[in-house]
Amino acid sequence: MAKLPEAVPNLPSNMRAWQVTTPGPIDGPHAPLAFVTKPVPQPQPGETLVRVLACGVCHTDLHVSEGDLPVHHAHVTPGHEIVGEVVANGAQTSRFKLGERIGIPWLRWTCGVCRYCRSGRENLCPHSLYTGWDHDGGYAEYVTVPEGFAYRIPERFASVTAAPLLCAGIIGYRAFERANVPAGGRLGLYGFGGSAHITAQIAIDQGIEVHIFTRGQDAQAFGLKLGAASAQGAYDPSPVKLDSAIMFAPVGDMVPNELANLDKGGTLALAGIHLSDIPSLNYQDHLFHEKNLTSVESNTRRDGEAFLTLADRLNIQPATTPVAFEHADEALRTVKRGDLQGACVLRIGED
Ligand SMILES: [Zn+2]
Ligand SMILES: [Zn+2]
Repeated sequence: MAKLPEAVPNLPSNMRAWQVTTPGPIDGPHAPLAFVTKPVPQPQPGETLVRVLACGVCHTDLHVSEGDLPVHHAHVTPGHEIVGEVVANGAQTSRFKLGERIGIPWLRWTCGVCRYCRSGRENLCPHSLYTGWDHDGGYAEYVTVPEGFAYRIPERFASVTAAPLLCAGIIGYRAFERANVPAGGRLGLYGFGGSAHITAQIAIDQGIEVHIFTRGQDAQAFGLKLGAASAQGAYDPSPVKLDSAIMFAPVGDMVPNELANLDKGGTLALAGIHLSDIPSLNYQDHLFHEKNLTSVESNTRRDGEAFLTLADRLNIQPATTPVAFEHADEALRTVKRGDLQGACVLRIGED
């Protein structure tokens, strides 16, 4: 490795990483992911190099691997729920000290000068770049991050526990904000994986009545254990009319039932980056009475900081299933099957 302004001694020049070869079904005959050896990336000016300790497995990684999202960077390494230790800083980079534990999220970079960035909506920046899609992510032993887009990880959290907070947690928090849940109100969560089970804890801790809609029996039982008021199938009627709802599953077919379950004036927030087509809606049943239908795009850094502070204070503990680094493809197949308690997290380096 070339000489860096600041680096721990004896950094290796090569590392192990997963990369997307040709996007396609993760459970099909041609595996879209390959486990390879490649050079350790060099931090550019303004970037920090991190030795990865843990990386969460997110539904979006599945979309990148299977081609639901277009290829933005050939042979990209997926992964954007990264917890790691700072091992080098590029030129003019000083925010983090060597050895500090930081988190790297989905939002890798925004331009800072467009009208969205200048009005506090950098999540809508048309020039934004994403970790594990536009740029190599955390299914690797080392990864770089622009220092302004990383977070300090609260000490309370083990690295494996902290990883799902960085996308599942932050996006769930933004969706929760977008869903406009009134104080003490009723919230429906559709799909109950990594993001929903963290959002459920945030809501229940604030006295909100949570109702869960998901196909998985284990996921339903898990939601009830966390304190949800009810759990039922994804297409079931709600036992009570809901003030707000968040859709975490990428299934457009679920939307009409979600809107029908809303009370007058209620809000449905669609949290996914990818959604299959929504069937035609009936105005009276689904939208009239001032129902609101909105989506959620990524997050701002302010969402991230606010969420991590809240997660620390409320001691939000994501349920995790640690997975060996070598089995990332297996973890993605588990995510695809969907009946999961909490989140798969790859253990990559020694903590
Ligand atoms: Zn911008
Ligand atoms: Zn994600």
